[in-house]
Amino acid sequence: MNTVEQHIQNLRDELRTHNYNYYVLDNATISDFDFDIKLKELQALEAKHPEFFDANSPTQRVGGAVTKNFETTVHEHRMYSLDNSYSKEDLQDWETRIKKLIDGDIQYTCELKYDGASISLTYEDGKLIKAVTRGDGFQGDNVTANIKTIKSVPLQLKGDFPPKFDIRGEIVLPFEGFIKMNEERIEIGEEPYRNPRNTASGSLKLQDSAEVAKRPLECLLYNLTGTNLGVNTQFEGLEKARQWGFKVPDAAKLVDSIDGVLEFVEYWDVHRHDLPYETDGVVIKVNNLQQQDELGYTAKAPRWAMAYKFKAERVSTRLNSITYQVGRTGAITPVANLEPVELAGTTVKRASLHNADQIAKLDIRVNDEVYVEKGGEIIPKILGVDLTKRPENSEPTIYISTCPECNTQLVRQEGEAQHYCPNYNGCNPQIIGRIQHFISRKAMDIDGLGGETVALLVNEGLINNYADLYKLTKEQVLPLERMAEKSADNLINGIAESVKVPFERVLFALGIRYVGETVAKKLAKHYKNIDAVINATQEELVNVDEIGIKIAESVVAFFAAEENIEIINNLRAFGLKFELTEEQLSGQTELLKGNIVVVTGVFETISRNELKKAIEDNGGKVSSSISSKTSYIVAGSNMGPSKKEKAEKLNVLIINEVEFLRMLN
Ligand code: AMP
Ligand code: ZN
Repeated sequence: MNTVEQHIQNLRDELRTHNYNYYVLDNATISDFDFDIKLKELQALEAKHPEFFDANSPTQRVGGAVTKNFETTVHEHRMYSLDNSYSKEDLQDWETRIKKLIDGDIQYTCELKYDGASISLTYEDGKLIKAVTRGDGFQGDNVTANIKTIKSVPLQLKGDFPPKFDIRGEIVLPFEGFIKMNEERIEIGEEPYRNPRNTASGSLKLQDSAEVAKRPLECLLYNLTGTNLGVNTQFEGLEKARQWGFKVPDAAKLVDSIDGVLEFVEYWDVHRHDLPYETDGVVIKVNNLQQQDELGYTAKAPRWAMAYKFKAERVSTRLNSITYQVGRTGAITPVANLEPVELAGTTVKRASLHNADQIAKLDIRVNDEVYVEKGGEIIPKILGVDLTKRPENSEPTIYISTCPECNTQLVRQEGEAQHYCPNYNGCNPQIIGRIQHFISRKAMDIDGLGGETVALLVNEGLINNYADLYKLTKEQVLPLERMAEKSADNLINGIAESVKVPFERVLFALGIRYVGETVAKKLAKHYKNIDAVINATQEELVNVDEIGIKIAESVVAFFAAEENIEIINNLRAFGLKFELTEEQLSGQTELLKGNIVVVTGVFETISRNELKKAIEDNGGKVSSSISSKTSYIVAGSNMGPSKKEKAEKLNVLIINEVEFLRMLN
């Protein structure tokens, strides 16, 4: 092996080990920063030496492959379902049944039943070959490109693995990551995801694997499948899989009897609430693989395994009424108001009904007796109706057609589940939500003003939009509930102080749909002042790094509305910052205006990031790929051969760092 190849291999091994320590063992041994540096180094080397390409290199985890249609793939070994049990008696019946079919003592492996999306991974010579969803059990979708981005899925195994095998597991989205994803969605004005499980399974079918890479998914493994695996029991299989680098939770326990199983169930029924991800039961498996073989399968499930569902935390109660909530974006959510009932240790009075389709599907009617369950979701959900208790005069629910807050006709876009109130500037909850966003910490961060006070100010008719905040006087706010001399002063001072907040945060505070903190920064940096943003066309916007069509459309629509321009003009008059400061602009010129520049290779006098910043600071645009639009390429040493070829083919000028820096001076 020559030295470059060796170096590439070493980097891959090293990064793989760090990935493993961090994502499988939850024990980081290197800083994110150092990891990034090594990853970048490997990326650069691989770009320069395409002859050493490896589909399972750690660089492949960032995603980028786009799949339009997932290829249907037949499972070499069928993916069965599991039979369910709910009581000690169910388990004893099961044991009696299997004892008739096999001889000898039976040991059981008890495992947690992870609640996510099941996946089958195929490995050959220690390399991940494909990943297929369960589908109908006989065939599923090939989602390999997406699965590769999940860091706890090993792309290359270690130790004494068999030459070829399948391994089954569950893709889950731990609570922490789920909550964070939802915070980010709320920040850009999107509806939050409903639960981790659906979000995990939805993620597997995203077309853009780079999007999947951003989601904090995990893969928990529980079953080896194949021949000549060199293991004799399920428990040993778990241990082996762990040694080969898979993430196999260590809750699994080997027991000798159904009593032992029940102990395991009782323990986890309580302690599962401390786990970082959702579980909905326990899976019990006959430990000995020989015994498993003898037991075989029924038409739909193995005889050697049994799921035990945690006691369904479910009750029935009367639905007293359905009310409708209006969110910051105008989205309507129907809410079930229930006769209060005890469930899983809390009194439940309300449950989400999600949307019109859900109500129609379950045919939920006021005065029905409904089943309520508390699952992983924060808000309990309604599972269905006890039809035997339906009153005779009951009428199907008619979904509202006008906004409960402002009476505007609701709209429902093609393909969307949710109804919306389009009365953007005249609907109270939307007005309040927008002002609450405006004052929030990452936006204007107004000291002395909280969300409830905002609602009060709007409801009292003192303000109607966020610009009105700056007109408020102490005399106006003093009579408000819970307002005293001191708090009124704080409020007015906090508002006055906020005019110092820099432009990029003001832009974020405006609450343009899809414009989160990062996008606001990008726009501020690119356009430098609000007028340039207002005048930008959709085509120009999508040319800004990382601005997609959805964001561009939303920005254009926001500034096309007369009312928004008026509000911005008012804010301007109050002294808010609508342009980058001298300091932010210093070192910035228009020298490279209109230039689209590709940066490639390794540089000596300046880092790649500094180089990119210099291009942007001087009005140029950095692009990652060479095309006919490229103005020129700034190349360091070690420019990749494929890039070079493309540049030559398209006749694009290549300059070095010295020439580039001279151009700027
Ligand atoms: P069900 O979908 O209710 O038939 O249950 C079967 C599913 O449980 C399987 O397809 C797996 O995705 C999932 N599952 C979760 N944890 C385990 C586990 N430890 N062993 C086997 N299956 C599991
Ligand atoms: Zn409304």
